[in-house]
Amino acid sequence: MVRVRSPAVAALAALAVLATAAPAAAMPRQIDVAALAGAPIVDPPIDWRASRAVGRPFAGRLVRGVQLPAQGVDFWTYDWGTRATPNRPWRRWGTDRLVRRVLTVLRDFRIANPGAARVGVADLSRPHGGAFGRNFGGLGHASHQNGLDADIVYPRSDRLEEPIRDHREVDRALAQDLVDRFVEAGARNVWTGPRLHLRGPAGVVEDLVHHDDHLHVRIR
Ligand SMILES: [Zn+2]
Repeated sequence: MVRVRSPAVAALAALAVLATAAPAAAMPRQIDVAALAGAPIVDPPIDWRASRAVGRPFAGRLVRGVQLPAQGVDFWTYDWGTRATPNRPWRRWGTDRLVRRVLTVLRDFRIANPGAARVGVADLSRPHGGAFGRNFGGLGHASHQNGLDADIVYPRSDRLEEPIRDHREVDRALAQDLVDRFVEAGARNVWTGPRLHLRGPAGVVEDLVHHDDHLHVRIR
């Protein structure tokens, strides 16, 4: 795999790719050039291995988990505990199926939405799963214990690679597209914020308090 290490070359290449992918008329109002310059043009390597989700999302553990990189071509990561990017390495572990599913959905989302910013991914599970409560920072999680859960930051209307601080910052059309794609990819659950009025099949897409700034996807 070819890895470009020069930030300047990477930025130029990223801009070139974007320019080829989207005609000028379709370009967004704002492009976060700083974020583009920091985005890799190829995904960092992932140490894939067959994982096992043990127990339940709210009482379980993760065996042979796979670590999501700090960022990739189509995503950045966010830490609820430090309120900073990238998310710390120990908060980014899931089953191989979860990591692959998230990366595939986010890649397809960006191909379908030229000019859309990379999508933020917050917590998955800890390296071996288990409790991920409030003592680990932020609001904490009752679930996220066996590598099947992921928090995804909604796309912003201003297309910046930043967290959502107010639900009015969410690009609802892009957020709905993300929800639809996770449903199509076979998600067991997608929890979304009550203020956003996102739609989906009953029993799969449901409103949940504290989810106006991110969606929570759980795979089977
Ligand atoms: Zn969550």
